[in-house]
Amino acid sequence: MTEAYDKEEEVEEAKQLLKRLKIYSLLDLALIFPSSYSDTTLSASLEPGKVHTLEATVEEVSNLGGKLRVIFRLTRFNQRLSSTFFRSTPYHFKEFAPGTPHIIQGRLEIYKGYLQMSQPRSLKTVGKITTKYKTVLKDNEIRSLIECYITEQNLYHEGLDSKEAAALMKVHFPNRLDDILENGQYKQDLISVFKWVEAFNHIKKLHGKRINFPALYALNGAIEAFVTSLPFTLTVEQQAVIAQIQKDLARNDKAAKRMVVGDVGSGKTMVILASAMMALPHKSILMAPTSLLALQLYEEACKYLPKTVRIALVMQSKEEGKYQEADFIIGTHALLYKEDLPQAALVMVDEQHRFGTKQRQSLEALVSGGEIKPHFIQFSATPIPRTQAMMESELVDVSLITTTPFEREVTTKTIGRSDFPGLLEHIRREIAQDHQVLIIYPLVEESSEVPYQSLEEARGFWEERFDEVYVTHGKDREKEEVLLSFREKGNILLATTVVEVGISLPRLTLIVIVGAERLGLATLHQLRGRVGRNGLKSWCYLYSNAKTQNVRLEKFALANNGFDIAKLDLQFRNSGDILDGTIQSGQKFKWLDMGEDEAVIINAKNRLKSIEKRK
Ligand code: ADP
Ligand code: MG
Repeated sequence: MTEAYDKEEEVEEAKQLLKRLKIYSLLDLALIFPSSYSDTTLSASLEPGKVHTLEATVEEVSNLGGKLRVIFRLTRFNQRLSSTFFRSTPYHFKEFAPGTPHIIQGRLEIYKGYLQMSQPRSLKTVGKITTKYKTVLKDNEIRSLIECYITEQNLYHEGLDSKEAAALMKVHFPNRLDDILENGQYKQDLISVFKWVEAFNHIKKLHGKRINFPALYALNGAIEAFVTSLPFTLTVEQQAVIAQIQKDLARNDKAAKRMVVGDVGSGKTMVILASAMMALPHKSILMAPTSLLALQLYEEACKYLPKTVRIALVMQSKEEGKYQEADFIIGTHALLYKEDLPQAALVMVDEQHRFGTKQRQSLEALVSGGEIKPHFIQFSATPIPRTQAMMESELVDVSLITTTPFEREVTTKTIGRSDFPGLLEHIRREIAQDHQVLIIYPLVEESSEVPYQSLEEARGFWEERFDEVYVTHGKDREKEEVLLSFREKGNILLATTVVEVGISLPRLTLIVIVGAERLGLATLHQLRGRVGRNGLKSWCYLYSNAKTQNVRLEKFALANNGFDIAKLDLQFRNSGDILDGTIQSGQKFKWLDMGEDEAVIINAKNRLKSIEKRK
């Protein structure tokens, strides 16, 4: 009885420790590697410059003005070695009495042909490698956890093969440090295993989190009439994603959970509308992060969907159509407060990346309730690297749209103070052609920390020189009204990064981003995506008063595709640039490089698949 109790107590204790280390899987634990090793294996040869462990007997002792000088005879090598103890105490004189045997450890040096080791340690045990960890736990606590859980058997059980398991065992329980280290670093073949294990562990966790529910309905609504009525042909990628969604929705044993990731302007709205068609005669709901965007989607739905489809709009400030009876309900989070919102067979969320964490949780509320769920599709314009998409797809299915329907002609240039007169000229030319200009400032008000003018400092300059100058920013309560009036009659819009909100301003052809070097590439790309929406020739000026050329911005200027930019972002992130963290990828891995290790990720995914099949 007490034994069982002890056992339980031990398990409870281990659980607490694991929690403190934020360990949620056996492989999380296996991936906590020693930060260093102490090795008391006797050295087999003498290699000056390296740390040695040697058997030695004291031959002579002398006192050099308080310093203890000991001449040892190395038992195995039959050579003399001299040591000096600079901070010697009576203890040292007693310890190293002539004739006493020792195991000494220290760095071996050669000086004028004589072997030397300054201040060696005298070891009690020999032939042992001890691992040292840098965690919040004591070394013996983490060691006992590792001894308890990290066994070859357990590693196989987790899905590792014999080579991978052996590599991890060697790292935690080494026989010889030469097997695992080279110049004090882990050997390359081990690092390859570490990468693989990291990838495998991550996708396994994501996979484990995915719970499939049956769907309310299998949806098979026809889309042909809608597709043929469009004034353009859908791109190959739009068609492919639509086909994928058709497959998802046609089954009711598993509710769809898909994320469609497509660059700004890649035509995701058409995919949304096609999906609403598939849902008929059942209802679908589309939620957008802002009223402006909801309104825009509503207008597009009314324009492109057959007139027989009943469409409703629900926002805090405005409602159109009877949402209780509509086939397709479009709205903002105001939807969440409607108690008589009908049950939808399909729930969609546009610009998913614009929702805050809290709002995102409430989105889940739209699809929760019961064991049978609506199909759920989200749309996002934050391009993620392919590698990340591959991983994420263990949790949600991911579709990527990597091209835009028409070639957007946007020229990107980095400029500085001396280019300003030319810039003013260019702005005048655009306005003369009834085009619009957007200027992004880093801050609303002056700050000593930012070496650029703020929105408030700059507005006078523009208002003096131009008509119809509009100003807005993130905390501006009238933001949406300002944007709407600007869309109608504005020349210049001064703003902070708020305009990231996916509103379409078709006449916008020139954007200036002040202090561009301070922003992440993903944000810059979103901002640049605002101009040239309708194929008008457009310009993006990256204004920086930094003296040196910024490589990151120069590369950004040459790249137009969001997926290339996600990749670039990874490269610069790895090199430690200051970014705003729009994409969180590539940071949680110690060994895996999201930019380069695609093959590793594919391999890990395949392993998981074959394990799942065997089950
Ligand atoms: P996203 O939501 O992905 O940023 P939108 O759906 O707003 O992009 O599409 C951008 C623009 O491209 C819209 O004006 C839309 O009407 C147009 N568009 C969409 N698909 C096509 C297509 N296949 N051919 C031509 N234009 C298209
Ligand atoms: Mg969109």
